[in-house]
Formats: sequence, structure tokens, C-alpha cells
Amino acid sequence: MKFTKITASIGPNCEDKKILTEMVRSGVNVCRLNFSHDTGDVQGVKIDMVRSISKKLGTPVAVMIDIQGPKHRIGDFKTENHYPLKIGQKFTLDTDETPGDEHRVYLPDMDVMKSLSVGDRILLNDGKIELKVDAVFDDKIETTVIRGDEIWSRRGFNLPDTDVDTDILTDKDKKDLEYAITKNPDFVALSFVQCAEDVANVRDFIMTRTSHPIKIIAKIERPNAVKRITDIATAADGIMIARGDLAVEVPFEQVPAISRHIIRECRKLNRPVIMATQMLSSMVHSEFPTRAEISDVANAAYLRADSTMTSEETTIGDNPVNVIETMNKILAYSDKDTIENPYDWSRIDNVPENDWSRSVSSMAHLNKAVAIVVFARDTDIATQISCRRPDIPIIAVCDEDVTANQLCLLRGVFPICDKYLFGQRDAFNSARQFGIGVGKLVIVDDDKISLRTLE
Ligand code: PGA
Repeated sequence: MKFTKITASIGPNCEDKKILTEMVRSGVNVCRLNFSHDTGDVQGVKIDMVRSISKKLGTPVAVMIDIQGPKHRIGDFKTENHYPLKIGQKFTLDTDETPGDEHRVYLPDMDVMKSLSVGDRILLNDGKIELKVDAVFDDKIETTVIRGDEIWSRRGFNLPDTDVDTDILTDKDKKDLEYAITKNPDFVALSFVQCAEDVANVRDFIMTRTSHPIKIIAKIERPNAVKRITDIATAADGIMIARGDLAVEVPFEQVPAISRHIIRECRKLNRPVIMATQMLSSMVHSEFPTRAEISDVANAAYLRADSTMTSEETTIGDNPVNVIETMNKILAYSDKDTIENPYDWSRIDNVPENDWSRSVSSMAHLNKAVAIVVFARDTDIATQISCRRPDIPIIAVCDEDVTANQLCLLRGVFPICDKYLFGQRDAFNSARQFGIGVGKLVIVDDDKISLRTLE
């Protein structure tokens, strides 16, 4: 049994039903559909496919919709050529829609224009180009090139020093979300979250359109979001450490420390956390991961993240099934290694001694229980116990598919949706479904906690 879950990004090379079925069999718990790349109805077909595979295999699988968010882009240049920007030269971003050249380019986004201040950095091309703002006018921003490279039309840029006064949902995002909501996804991931209000606004948007209990995952990829992690994690239902943009916006050497900090914060606040981006990138074309990638995946398990994530290695990779088998193998082995683990469940950081989820974990630990069985009306109880990171399985018996799907993301939680077992409060047969034949079970049913022995 692997405890760390796998969130797999689904793209062109794994949209075939046979391949996706094999990926789920090999360990995928959550399928992530990225709305940066495809529009609503195309994604809708994939959502239906995940649901049908889950039904056929009789195993819950969650669907996560990833909303593009306010990714900023510059306008067009005069030709499709690449324009060199040299260190020390001046470069202007302005409101003139005519195509740009090596001295200036159109900045379509007025929210960015209004938010920039003198001294702020503008990073283009994944941080390869750095501009420093020298002067701000109503119709233009003057900058100096601090780090130079080639630039071309419609490149995205990052603003690590700026709180951009913008709506978290662009018009495209609103359309995508309106559509996605009709397909009852289990999670919606939000890109470029800057503060707790961003999460609250999207929750309002969703709640005025559906009563389906969609959970919101805030992607942490901006320095201002890192600073506000406690408020954002409190407002959201989970966190994704989106290391791709994060490593552009903060000095890259800080990313591992920030990741550890976010994981600890999420555990305290009872929020699941996904470690994302470039985990097995070399496997886009290679059959084997690099040694460093193996360690990166293992470290996510050692740090007790809830889930790792695949990106282009499954969306455009040569062999997405092999990627999942590889990740699954590394996680299954690393999950078992608790030797001198500082994140061990007996060290429950800052959770009060009388916290009941801590009592459940301690009771299981002291009695050498083999599993915790939770009768889960919703995700709350299983989530709290999971965040104490017990090293035995948490079997969550649900009576709603959406609850079982959402629990797929949580570390060490093994959900099943079975109305009969749930109605009968049948802990023994629930445990047997997961191959547990003998041993002590801690059983949690609302606020009742009991200990029984399965023989
Ligand atoms: P993306 O998010 O795939 O939407 O870019 C992940 C990241 O930035 O790490």
C-alpha cells in the first residue's frame, strides 16, 4: 500500500482510455486537467473518461480542474523574429497597440500597468530576462535590462515584487469554470493566488452556481502567496506547491525550504498538500528517471506531503504508464522508511494535546493497531486524522462518491464508497476489502472512537 498519492496531469499522450486505465491501475489517485491548454468541452470528454475508468475498476479517482488564472503576457513584435535585449539598455512597456521592437512592446494588461512601482522586477522567459522598473507613467513603464536574452511575441512574464491588483479569474477562466462546474469536478486548482480573498471570491463564484461540494486547491507560485500561506491555506481546502513558477518568482535555492514550510503549515491546518512540477521530467523521453529525480520523489514522501504530481512527463511523455509505475515504486518504498523520520506521527507539531485526531493517532499507536477505519459522512474527520500522519492505513468508508473521490488526495487514506458497509458500520469487512485480515482496528464513527480486534 503506498501512502503518498499521485496526482497525474492528463494531456495528449495519455488521453487514450487504455493508457489512462493502465495509469490508474499503476497508482494514479487524482487526474489533473489543465485548462491552460484546452477549452471546456474537450476537457469535458476527459472528465467523463476518468469517471468511466473509475467505475470500471471499482476504485475512486478524483478529477482536478486546473484554472489558468491571470498569467501576464506582453503583446506582439513587428516580426516573428527573436529580438535581443542587452544588459543596461532601456526597454519600454506601453499602451500603444502597434507591434514592438527592441526598444518597446505593448502591455495589454492595464491591471499590471497600474500595479507596478519603481524598483519592481519584471521577469520574462522563465526569468531569463530581468527588467527593473525605472519610471511609471499613465501610458508607459520605463525599464532597464538587468539580465538579457532574446524576446519574442506574447511571452509570459512574472512580477515577483508586485501585488497585482487583479481579479483571480480572467474572462477565459470564468468561462472555463462555468463549464467545468457542470461536470461536477472534485477539485478546482487556482493559479497565481495572491491572498485569501482570491480563494474566497472563487468559492463565492462556485457556490452561487452549484451545491456540489467542490474543493479549492490554491497553487502557491508567488512570493506574496508564500508570505500569506497561513491565511490562504485556511481559506482553501488544499495547497499545491507549484514549483515551476515559484522557482522563477523566488530565488530557486529557497524553493526546498519554502516547500518544507508549506507542508508543515498545511499539516497544522488540516489541509492536504501536493508537491508539484518537474518530479520526473527526464522521463518525457527517457525510460529511467535521473538519480536526482528519484530522490526528489522520495523526499516528498519523507516530508510527508499528501501527493506528488506528474506534469509533462505524463501529458507529452513517451510512456506515461512507465512514469506512473516508476513514481509508484519510489513512493511505495519511501513511505515505509520511517527510520529517524522527524516528521513521524508521534511528533505532532503544534496540535493541542487534547485534539481528538491526535487521540485517535495515539490510541492506534499505543495499541499497535493495524488500521484506522473511519465512517466518513464528509471529508473532515479522515482529513484531520491523515494530517497527524499515522503510519497505518486510514480506511475511509463513504456513502457518497464525491467524498471518496476527494479523500483520494489524502496521505494514507484509502477510501471506498459502499452504502451497505457504511450503513451497517461494518468496520471488519471494510478492512478486509483492503487485504487486512487480522489485528486491532481503531474505529471512528462521528465522535465515537472504539478499538476492536479483527480475527
Ligand atoms: P502550471 O503550474 O502547470 O499551471 O504552470 C505548475 C507550476 O507552475 O509549477
